[in-house]
Amino acid sequence: MKQWIVANWKMNGSRSDLEAFVPALQAGLRGGGDAARVIVCPPAPYLSALAELARDTAIGVGAQNVHASPKGAFTGEIAVSMLQDVGADTCIVGHSERRQLFGETDEQIRDKLLALRSAGLLAILCVGETLEQREANQHETVVERQLRGALMGADAAMLSGLAVAYEPVWAIGTGRTATPEQANAMHAVIRKALGAIVAPEAAADVPILYGGSVNADNAASLLGQPEINGALVGGASLKADSFLAIINQAKA
Ligand code: PEP
Repeated sequence: MKQWIVANWKMNGSRSDLEAFVPALQAGLRGGGDAARVIVCPPAPYLSALAELARDTAIGVGAQNVHASPKGAFTGEIAVSMLQDVGADTCIVGHSERRQLFGETDEQIRDKLLALRSAGLLAILCVGETLEQREANQHETVVERQLRGALMGADAAMLSGLAVAYEPVWAIGTGRTATPEQANAMHAVIRKALGAIVAPEAAADVPILYGGSVNADNAASLLGQPEINGALVGGASLKADSFLAIINQAKA
């Protein structure tokens, strides 16, 4: 499976940053972007600019969040159809910052996934344990519970447009990564759980990405693990050079 390398800009960057970033990214992608599946997730106001800049390239256009309802009195929220209208093809769901800072629940995440997949968008579901949970040896049960909560009742069609990002909370933005072995082991746990929740055949093709302080120096060892199918990158995705240095270490 082609590895996915996804940029999560969070609430960073500007239109002019994007205007410099996309051509530099496109110019630096080996084989015109064939070696990896590259998706950029800027803040929502820049999605249409990204869709324009990335037209006729292999770069995917991703949002960082969505509301599950089709429309209505939800001030400040954005519906799936609106993401489609501005050219997004992918959306991150359940990032730990949304869970922790905005109180997002597994039930809301499940509704968002359903809304996205029903409309044909790709979804990247984030899961991961806190440091406290890892130290209490609860990381596997926490992540299994998050998967079950988000995917209860899901069918194979749901999984066919889904990627999971394993992002240990203690590794996000901290400069501290899971070791390649720790990440690899958790990815195997995640694939097994996906198989148990939906069906093993459907789970086999779901890309499972690692996220948490991925950079040019640690990318090769993480992406070299058999269970790691890509990376979700925050800080190191803000500059084309450092993002390309990760992309170009993806395994075809
Ligand atoms: C993220 O935002 O999902 C992330 C992994 O951030 P960072 O790479 O900065 O740790």
